[in-house]
Amino acid sequence: MDLTKIRTGCTSSLNAALEYAKHGLRVVPTYRVSRLGQCGCGNAQCPDAGAHGHRKHLDVGGYLEPEDIKRAWKPKSRSGVGLITGSQNHLIAIGVKSPGGMKSLSDLMRKHGALPWTVQCATYDRRYILLEYGSCIATTAQYIPGIDILGDGACVPVPPSRPDGSVLRWVTYHTPGAVYVASATGAWETIFKLLPLGPGGLSK
Ligand SMILES: [Zn+2]
Repeated sequence: MDLTKIRTGCTSSLNAALEYAKHGLRVVPTYRVSRLGQCGCGNAQCPDAGAHGHRKHLDVGGYLEPEDIKRAWKPKSRSGVGLITGSQNHLIAIGVKSPGGMKSLSDLMRKHGALPWTVQCATYDRRYILLEYGSCIATTAQYIPGIDILGDGACVPVPPSRPDGSVLRWVTYHTPGAVYVASATGAWETIFKLLPLGPGGLSK
């Protein structure tokens, strides 16, 4: 998936959402966390604070049209931006979170081989690895400790979202301008195919 023409410097969520949609990606507002670490969804125990999409926007599959996006993100909106994952955007994201996520990812790569070179974004304690994949895939929270697999019914937060209070940034050498979103192939494709289909465990 070629996203190399995307302008990645947008600092406002509205402008970033318009930019992603202009390149054919369906977008959805994501919650932000308060200064006290509370997720905007109102669930004091939210397992994915600040990193999941508004249910009502996910349910309609996100947005591509500028008028819809301007309605969903007001100019001063504090919402972040998510790319719809799953079959609509032909996109999967592997969410790697502290604690334990990096070790789990290393274990998976030892077992199944390295992930292809692809687009990634990160904050200090989490990373999202984007892969192209055309079929339905179940969203699976905590596939193994610290690893979420984001597919149908969910979204992946992307810059300039603030999923844990700090800004998500594209990882050097893994920016949309530097590399294609690689296809999920080989053993990794097998993992995704084996995930049970059904309602996801995230983005309630
Ligand atoms: Zn929440």
